[in-house]
Amino acid sequence: MILVTGGAGYIGSHNVIALLDAGYDVVIFDNLELGHIETVETLKNINSNGRVVDFVKGDLQNLVDIKSVFEKHKIDAVVHFAAYSQVAESVKNPQKYYFNNVYGTLNLLCAMLENNVKRIVFSSTAATYGEPVYVPIDEKHPQMPINTYGKTKLMIENIMDDYDKAYGLRSVRLRYFNVAGADSQNRVGEWHEPETHLIPNILKSTFSGGKTFQMFGTDYPTKDGTCVRDYINVEDLAKAHVLALKYLENGGRTNFFNLGTNEGNSVKEVFSSCEKVTEKEISVEIKPRREGDPATLIADNKKAKEDLGWSPERSLEESILTAYNWEDKLTKSIKIGCIK
Ligand code: UDP
Repeated sequence: MILVTGGAGYIGSHNVIALLDAGYDVVIFDNLELGHIETVETLKNINSNGRVVDFVKGDLQNLVDIKSVFEKHKIDAVVHFAAYSQVAESVKNPQKYYFNNVYGTLNLLCAMLENNVKRIVFSSTAATYGEPVYVPIDEKHPQMPINTYGKTKLMIENIMDDYDKAYGLRSVRLRYFNVAGADSQNRVGEWHEPETHLIPNILKSTFSGGKTFQMFGTDYPTKDGTCVRDYINVEDLAKAHVLALKYLENGGRTNFFNLGTNEGNSVKEVFSSCEKVTEKEISVEIKPRREGDPATLIADNKKAKEDLGWSPERSLEESILTAYNWEDKLTKSIKIGCIK
C-alpha cells in the first residue's frame, strides 16, 4: 500500500488516480485544511480494478497522527505532497511554512524510519532554484531559493540526502514547474481558496460572477512583455510519480528531476489560448508586476526523460480545456450547494 500525504489536494488527488490505475492500493493522509472531503469521496468511489482507497484524517505536525497510519496499514512507500505552497504567504508568515512543511516532513520521515519504510517520492519545486541564472533550467542549476516556500522545499531535499546517507532512506525529488489542467474524466481538479494561479484565474473570470482577470506586469524582458512559464499537465505530472516509485522499487538510488515541458508560454499566450479554447472574449485588467515573479522559468526535462522514461504528452490547450471543464463543474456544484 502506498501512503499519499496531501492526497485530497490538487496534485495529490490526480496522483491517487494515477497510482490506482497503475495497480497500487492507496491510503490518503490529509488534514483537509486545503484538501477537500468531496475529493476524498470521489477518489474512494473510483472503481479501478478493485484497488483500495483508504483515508486517514490527520496532521503531519502531530506525530501521533502520522504514526497511526503506519499502525493501521503496511506501507510500502510514500508519495509526499502535504505542504503549504503559496509564495507570498510564505514570506509573510515563515513560521507557518517551516512548521508545516519542514517539521511536518520530519515527523513523516520519523514514522517511516520507525516502520522501516525506505522509499519516498517528494513533491519539490522549481522555486528551489530561485532567480534563474540560465534557462532552460536543468538539475545542475544552483539552488538558491528567494522565498520561504522554496527554502522549505530545499531544506527537505537536503534532509532527505542526510537520511539516505545515515539511514538508507531513498528519495526521488520531483521539481515541478507550473502545473496545469485537470483530470481528463473531470473527476478532480484544481480547487484552491483563494485561487492565485494563472489558468484557473483566467477561466474563473469567464463564469457569471467571476472577477475580471488581472494580468500582473507587461514590462518584463520577454517576447511580449509578460512572464514566461513552463506549464506541465497535471496528469503527465502524476505519471512521473508512478515512474519515480517504480524507479525506487527497482533499486534506483536517491535522485531528483525537473518536471516540465522544455517550452515556455507567456501570460499573454496563455490568455489567448484560454480565449480560443473557451470561445469567449475574456476581459482583462493590466496590473503592475506581482512581487517576486521572475521573468522566465523553463525546465530542461532531459534527465527525467532519460532516467525515468517519462515524457509529457498533453498540450497547453488540453490543460486549459480540462481546467475549464473542471471550473464549470465546480461553479455549478457550488451554486446548487452540492459542495461547501
Ligand atoms: N498571473 C497573472 N494573474 C493571475 C495569476 C498569475 O498575471 O491572476 C501571472 C503571474 O504574475 C506569473 C504567471 O501568471 O507571471 C504564473 O503565475 P502562477 O501564480 O500561475 O504561477 P507561479 O509561476 O507564480 O508559480
